Amino acid sequence: MARYIFITGGVVSSLGKGLASAALGALLQARGFTVRLRKLDPYLNVDPGTMSPFEHGEVFVTDDGAETDLDLGHYERFTGVAARRTDSVSSGRIYSNVLEKERRGEYLGKTIQVIPHVTNEIKDFISIGDDEVDFMLCEIGGTVGDIEGLPFFEAIRQFIHERPRGQCILMHLTLLPYLAASGELKTKPTQHSVKELQSIGLAPDVLVCRSEHPIPEKERAKIALFCNVRPDAVIPAYDLKSIYEAPLAYHRAGLDRAVLDAFQISPAPRPDLSKWEDVIDRLENAEGQVNIAVVGKYTQLEDAYKSIAEALTHGGMANRVRVKADWVDSEKLEGEGAHLLDGYHGIIVPGGFGERGTEGMLAAAKYAREKKVPYLGICLGMQMAVIEAARNLAGMPDAGSEEFDHEAGKTRFTPVVYHLKEWVQGNYTVQRKVTDDKGGTMRLGAYTAVLTPESRISEVYGGAVQIEDRHRHRYEVDATYRDALEQAGLCFSGMSPDGKLPEAVEYADHPWFIGVQSHPELKSKPFAPAPLFAGFVRAAMQEGRLV
Ligand code: GLN
Repeated sequence: MARYIFITGGVVSSLGKGLASAALGALLQARGFTVRLRKLDPYLNVDPGTMSPFEHGEVFVTDDGAETDLDLGHYERFTGVAARRTDSVSSGRIYSNVLEKERRGEYLGKTIQVIPHVTNEIKDFISIGDDEVDFMLCEIGGTVGDIEGLPFFEAIRQFIHERPRGQCILMHLTLLPYLAASGELKTKPTQHSVKELQSIGLAPDVLVCRSEHPIPEKERAKIALFCNVRPDAVIPAYDLKSIYEAPLAYHRAGLDRAVLDAFQISPAPRPDLSKWEDVIDRLENAEGQVNIAVVGKYTQLEDAYKSIAEALTHGGMANRVRVKADWVDSEKLEGEGAHLLDGYHGIIVPGGFGERGTEGMLAAAKYAREKKVPYLGICLGMQMAVIEAARNLAGMPDAGSEEFDHEAGKTRFTPVVYHLKEWVQGNYTVQRKVTDDKGGTMRLGAYTAVLTPESRISEVYGGAVQIEDRHRHRYEVDATYRDALEQAGLCFSGMSPDGKLPEAVEYADHPWFIGVQSHPELKSKPFAPAPLFAGFVRAAMQEGRLV
């Protein structure tokens, strides 16, 4: 049976609960334990799949095809444990399960209530896979006191009581605001948020206090006294230059020791932190800088391309170089021209949805092809590379994607990228209609691509001829145009195992130009960078004459 660590937040949102959870997971692994991390989100959307990237940031896709909160990306990047569908749940999903059961008559005509029906559903979810790991870390989204969060807190309260004593602990993150006028850190909001927890029957065992200023010993003692935690379980968390410093910083602050103490695990196994020391060494001792333009639509909110930003950092670590990513609005490129890309050492066109901004992305693909600048096209970025080649090399000036104006009924383009209605997943054939609901019409999760031996992409993957990356898209490049496009110079270097769906394209006569239908960034980790990002950054270094 796993031990459980519940992670909650108080005072304000965005305190870095996800990062603290991920770092704690990594520290427990460093001490030889196995972990799994989970996110319980109080919002009512059934999953983040249909939430705007502007509002909610990136949708993180798991191997088993779930569209989840971007915090699961942090968990994976820090622990290397592949997240699953059962590691992310929202109130919407919980209520929807309860209501489905009610419709099926599973509650035998009982009155359905938050306690016990909703809380039971939450507890069942929390305990999935209980016997697989030493520690299960469950982060509750939002802040204590939020109306939507109450059923989750109540479920945790019950869960802790139902488990043997000492099997569960609670870690609470708060903020210590600094009042410049009096030069003081204030502990009152922390006290209040702990009181709020106590009023619903929960008492934190470990308090993580975010602060921009050093927390004096006197204040730490005061927090311990007023919040009913041990002084050495009040863990200061200061701002960091890089998120990858978090495991070592939390270790120095005593987080893992406080957690193991709370479980009375003694003696605590000694940690091996060499992996994280190497990560920091690579970050701090980088030489030179490459400048990368990421030409996309969701450029106002960096979280919209979170995994790409991180994968670029990892690609930099692999090559011991700093990577500076600029987010270039593709619509701006349409207005002002592709010369905005002058001087960049590499261009990425990332994933995206809808027609808006795609002319700018096509211009970026054309610029990269003609000027021989390294190009990495991801999902929509690969589709753009194909459309650009069809229009400008294969004599199909009206080439486009069925996504672009499907509302009109019939597209004004020749769709070299079309809406996929049937495909093979493992032993199954999946079928979709254009009219299916928005939540479930995509090719989602890990799919295999078979690579052409000796192609650039195969070389990037160390000579592999079969790779597996995660997908999240509705449209596919139409393989019937393969011959025409290959004659024009664009090689189809990766295909689905049945040979029907193009998975990767590249130009043989270009220093480094690859498009992939998958999202390689989702599997990238600081200690195991995604090969395409390591290879792309390396090519950008050559462009910038750094090697
Ligand atoms: N909009 C495109 C599709 O659905 C690409 C999706 C993506 O880039 N993730 O196929």
